[in-house]
Amino acid sequence: MSLQVVFLGTAASIPTPNRSLSAIAVKREGELLLFDCGEGTQRQMIRRKIGFNRKTKVFITHMHGDHVLGLPGILQTMSLLGREKPLEIYGPRGIRDFIEAIIRTVRFALSFQIEIHEVEDEGIIREEKGYWVHAVWANHSVPTLAYALTEKPRPGRFHPERATTLGVAEKTLWSRLQHGHKIELENGRKVKPQDVMDPPRPGRKIVYTGDTSPSDKIVELAEDADLLIHEATFSDDLAERAAEDQHSTVSQAAEVASRAKAKLLYLTHISARYEYPEKLLEQAKKTFPNTHIPEDLTAITIPLHKDNCKKGD
Ligand SMILES: [Zn+2]
Ligand SMILES: [Zn+2]
Repeated sequence: MSLQVVFLGTAASIPTPNRSLSAIAVKREGELLLFDCGEGTQRQMIRRKIGFNRKTKVFITHMHGDHVLGLPGILQTMSLLGREKPLEIYGPRGIRDFIEAIIRTVRFALSFQIEIHEVEDEGIIREEKGYWVHAVWANHSVPTLAYALTEKPRPGRFHPERATTLGVAEKTLWSRLQHGHKIELENGRKVKPQDVMDPPRPGRKIVYTGDTSPSDKIVELAEDADLLIHEATFSDDLAERAAEDQHSTVSQAAEVASRAKAKLLYLTHISARYEYPEKLLEQAKKTFPNTHIPEDLTAITIPLHKDNCKKGD
């Protein structure tokens, strides 16, 4: 099951010739989860051939323009392309007014339904068959949410030879065991799923911070994440400025990744003053070696976790 992350926009506040405004696309099983929607997001989606008609949920971190002004364009493009599937949009208070104002004042015919969810409380804000989306409040100058996409554990590997040895011959009984049910054979023997299957394999986790100064809550949210996408607006020498504006420096972001024991760190929300981010990367890698600064439209695939048990266990 593929899980791909596309960095559509990695600039802070003002776009540059090379970097568009904040937007991260996560593609999972044909579904699109879009985190933030800075201006020009729909064009970045076109460049990356992401498509506007798939099942889509949008998660807005906060109501600063560089994270939300792409929504009018996306809604119009989706409508012009005749989208019919409903669109779910999540965000802090204010997102509803903003979208309703777009619909009321911009002259285009919306071709689909929008379900708007204003997030009030931290915790699970959306559950699907295969994953949860959690939100916590980050530290920024306006209410800002950080999000985690966490896949549900997958059942462990099934061992047909173990089933056969235990006398479970019928495939329908195999299926019941694979779906987590205990069974009882005609001879009275009881067989449990764990007798014939490895332990469940944990799902993958991706965390996106939006704008924030370093936050313990985000450390907790990002615990053992496969990928942490953390804002890093400033280099270390501008730490005071970062604190004033409630943003992070690259080393602060790296520190969060390290404390959370994340596997991989991608820095985003890069200030326009850093045309070449090599120095930023050098600073971050001192604290968290597995750090990357993506170009716009960089795509990465998060691999499935391997089995918990070695072969033959
Ligand atoms: Zn921002
Ligand atoms: Zn902001």
